[in-house]
Amino acid sequence: MADYKAPLRDMRFVLNEVFEVSKLWAELPALAEVVDEDTANAILEEAGKVTAGIIAPLNRSGDEEGCTWTNGAVKTPDGFPAAYKTYAEGGWVGVGGDPVFGGMGMPKVISAQVEEMVNSANLSFGLYPMLTAGACLSINAHASEELKEKYLPNMYAGTWAGSMCLTEPHAGTDLGIIRTKAEPQADGSYKVSGTKIFITGGEHDLTENIIHLVLAKLPDAPAGPKGISLFLVPKFMVNADGSLGEANSLSCGSIEHKMGIKGSATCVMNFDGATGYIIDAPNRGLAAMFTMMNYERLGVGIQGLSTGERSYQSAIEYARERIQSRAPTGPVATDKAADPIIVHPDVRRMLLTMKSLNEGGRAFSSYVAMQLDTAKFSEDPTTRKRAEELVALLTPVAKAFLTDAGLETTIHGQQIFGGHGFIREWGQEQLVRDCRITQIYEGTNGIQALDLVGRKVIGSGGAFYKHFADEIKAFTDSADASLAEFVEPLKGAISILEQMTADLLERAKSNPNEIGAASVEYLHAFGYTAYAYMWALMARTALSKQGEDDFYVSKLGTARFYFARVLPRIHSLSASVKAGSESLYLLDAEQF
Ligand SMILES: Cc1cc2nc3c(=O)[nH]c(=O)nc-3n(C[C@H](O)[C@H](O)[C@H](O)COP(=O)(O)OP(=O)(O)OC[C@H]3O[C@@H](n4cnc5c(N)ncnc54)[C@H](O)[C@@H]3O)c2cc1C
Repeated sequence: MADYKAPLRDMRFVLNEVFEVSKLWAELPALAEVVDEDTANAILEEAGKVTAGIIAPLNRSGDEEGCTWTNGAVKTPDGFPAAYKTYAEGGWVGVGGDPVFGGMGMPKVISAQVEEMVNSANLSFGLYPMLTAGACLSINAHASEELKEKYLPNMYAGTWAGSMCLTEPHAGTDLGIIRTKAEPQADGSYKVSGTKIFITGGEHDLTENIIHLVLAKLPDAPAGPKGISLFLVPKFMVNADGSLGEANSLSCGSIEHKMGIKGSATCVMNFDGATGYIIDAPNRGLAAMFTMMNYERLGVGIQGLSTGERSYQSAIEYARERIQSRAPTGPVATDKAADPIIVHPDVRRMLLTMKSLNEGGRAFSSYVAMQLDTAKFSEDPTTRKRAEELVALLTPVAKAFLTDAGLETTIHGQQIFGGHGFIREWGQEQLVRDCRITQIYEGTNGIQALDLVGRKVIGSGGAFYKHFADEIKAFTDSADASLAEFVEPLKGAISILEQMTADLLERAKSNPNEIGAASVEYLHAFGYTAYAYMWALMARTALSKQGEDDFYVSKLGTARFYFARVLPRIHSLSASVKAGSESLYLLDAEQF
């Protein structure tokens, strides 16, 4: 596998040249104080060094060794604890955290790039700080001041970790039917009892303490999702002076043996009357979790991009070096027995598909992160509301489309290696295995698609969708003639998406199955159109700087490939959406 190199040039292009993000920061007082272009560039450069130098070298060994469970204790792969300590001491766990409690206070658009780097370097490793940052978000937004002061500083500092305990053996997608109980105690605390499964980082040896956020039901809770509360349950109790006390009544029953992310501990967690503290009001648990979910779901989408980027870096190096057969148009490397495989049209198709989806994904995830920053920091209520609605609309697309694209790209990266992609030595097969979970956890991609169509598009009567479509139309209307080759197909895509949206709004009125029947293909058509918008924006910048260096030539060529060879996929997606639900219900369950 090629050594990982953080794609800093492309990150700077997206942030500084395409989106000119420092202009947004200057408009948001809370960010203007902490970040400008130079600070951001320095942070990204440093993150690139840490992730490439310290974390990437543990990727393969972490996969081969995996985590081990002995009598309730979990050992992470060799090298993980020391690397985690270095990562935490650099302030990276709290990079996006609240400065009041010791976080670095960086905007999401910066922490998103750091997430991309750490997950490219080593997805299993990246999950530990990501879960901690997610838990911190919920605590900071919904817990009492006392809980925040007691727990956040050590979590941002990385000396304590966090976990999210939602899933139970019988309840994954449908959290409304969880059975974990919380009994109120006279001192205001709760006794939490139940079994959670598949808990990432539920137990490990990286930190002194682990702070679990646990969904549970109070004795008098209403049935379903409206009866769920959220509790902070520490592994070790924390004394009034902040020192660690006795062990809480909880344990890790076992860890899962799984297809990928083997260095990430996936735990069965047993809570046996464990002491917990409520976060937010009773029965507001799911809402409190949702605060963190928009951030976390974007983060999981970025994991798909990360594996795709890592796979591409190895594939491009291999395609330049591996010689096999002659180019169809005649020998290129005449001094060699055969030509490098990068001469072959099909290898170029795979490489460019990877490059265009990765770079489109980097721009799109940065765009969504900027909306998250606007929603959080803008002082203007109208601007904030629009950004919140865009975030709501685009989060399921970012989670599902980036991870579906991630699997496609890692598979192309494996295919470019031929048989060498299937064996361990080159690392491409690990990326395919690691990427696969990103389509499943944090809400399966099927559920993301239902969320997009059912709640965000139809649920808002098309209003959220209109924000995005209007922005694209404003761009295409104002673009000059030199951009026509990008703007015309973008206009075509948005008009197909518009038609699909109008049809769906109409059909859903008479048949509820129409939503689920169309949702995955609709989300993909949405994703390809969103990436087309990103590619048109990137092409505009690249055109204006053409001739400065090869980077812009490469950008323009990749933009042209995207519009010629990838965007047309929306035609077949649109045909599937139009076909509706009828053909899905021709068989009854026994006839399958
Ligand atoms: C490695 C790993 C790490 C994880 N980490 C965590 C963690 O840290 N914390 C945590 O709480 N959980 C975690 N999970 C759990 C994960 O989030 C769930 O597995 C996931 O949400 C799906 O739930 P499920 O497995 O019960 O599948 P189910 O909910 O049983 O779904 C099975 C299938 O049915 C589909 N389906 C279900 N309902 C519908 C519907 N209404 N419409 C259409 N299709 C539907 C699903 O899309 C899926 O394809 C992890 C899982 C794994 C494997």
